[in-house]
Amino acid sequence: MEYFLSEEQKIIKSLAKRISDEYVSKVAIKYDKEGIFPRDILDLLAYTELTGVYIPKEYGGFGGGVMEMCLVVEELSRNCAGVAVSYAATALGAYPIILYGKEEQKKKYLPKIAKGELIAAFALTEADAGSDVSSIKTTAEKKGDYYILNGSKHWITNGGEADVYVVFAVTDKSKGPRGISAFIVEKGYEGFYCGKKEDKMGIRSSSTTELIFEDCKVPKENLLGREGTGFIIAMKTFDRTRPGVAAMAVGIAQGAYEHAIRYAKERVQFGQPLSSFQAIQHMLADMYINIEAARSLLYSTCRMIDSGAKDFSKESSACKVFASDVAMKVTTDAVQIMGGNGYVKDYPVEKMMRDAKVTQIFEGANQIQRNIIASEIIKEY
Ligand SMILES: Cc1cc2nc3c(=O)[nH]c(=O)nc-3n(C[C@H](O)[C@H](O)[C@H](O)COP(=O)(O)OP(=O)(O)OC[C@H]3O[C@@H](n4cnc5c(N)ncnc54)[C@H](O)[C@@H]3O)c2cc1C
Repeated sequence: MEYFLSEEQKIIKSLAKRISDEYVSKVAIKYDKEGIFPRDILDLLAYTELTGVYIPKEYGGFGGGVMEMCLVVEELSRNCAGVAVSYAATALGAYPIILYGKEEQKKKYLPKIAKGELIAAFALTEADAGSDVSSIKTTAEKKGDYYILNGSKHWITNGGEADVYVVFAVTDKSKGPRGISAFIVEKGYEGFYCGKKEDKMGIRSSSTTELIFEDCKVPKENLLGREGTGFIIAMKTFDRTRPGVAAMAVGIAQGAYEHAIRYAKERVQFGQPLSSFQAIQHMLADMYINIEAARSLLYSTCRMIDSGAKDFSKESSACKVFASDVAMKVTTDAVQIMGGNGYVKDYPVEKMMRDAKVTQIFEGANQIQRNIIASEIIKEY
């Protein structure tokens, strides 16, 4: 399919593809098995300046948008979604600063994130506040020149590895979602610790941990936006980063599809390659149709967001839901096409099937995305 990417976007995509094929593919299975954080790949992405593709030029980035970020995520995910999510989680941590940071905050953090000198993370979810994010309990109390944070966060991607965390906490309990605020918390701040590391089904090279705040002192100038705007900051950030999950899903699906085709052409049963059986051909055809449909919706959504459109929650949720459901279906079918070999760790498709699952869960589970889409379309008509 021709997607009419700009010359720069084609260069970004092909550079990310090269890194993915030449480096990520070599370490994907080992890093997955041993749970190794892909710092070497992130360093390579920094060296090639892909860490800055979505950061505005005035803060040292390439000046691209969600599309450029998604192109990198998609290509990395073709070989390892764990590597891709470690890259994408920095974008999730950087976007609140891009969107709501004060000039001093942008100047302090964004150039270093663009250069890959800082890894970022986004900390909203808690043990008892997953889909219902407005029920978070971590508190931030203003005392003199500091906010004092107390509480804990759950499931934080890049936890323990990141240098900068955008953390959401309650500054005024009586105001519900309007009493939530966002803060930039640096690794090493007094009273800020990293807790348990999760032993996950997939994306195992990425780090997912608890974060603990015990009278953690955060300078008052690290408040993002105004007090009480945290919920809006989180939602507006997700509108821009859910396409990143869709890109991960498209990349995983594309990777599994490529493996399945190659395998189907090589593996002979009943004296013929598997690819000559119509049942297999139809599965491959459906994979192709679904992947192209998911990619088309993803790229259209990215173009809409980057055009400066005001409201795109529905489109952003739709591409996340569609692409993640496609990734689950395509990877499951890829395992089926490869039979027993699909089910063992000697080939990468069983990893891809495990990795695909999380795209239906994180950054708002698909049920929640369908709730968002339904509420928007019911308002429209
Ligand atoms: C690997 C991984 C990495 C993550 N990284 C981050 C991160 O970096 N930062 C961060 O803040 N969070 C992160 N998360 C958290 C993630 O966003 C949540 O797991 C997700 O939003 C779902 O919340 P939950 O797990 O508590 O599920 P729950 O909210 O308990 O939901 C369980 C199930 O019930 C369904 N459900 C819940 N409410 C409704 C409803 N109203 N209608 C219909 N169905 C409903 C859900 O869709 C889901 O299927 C991560 C999670 C994982 C697994």
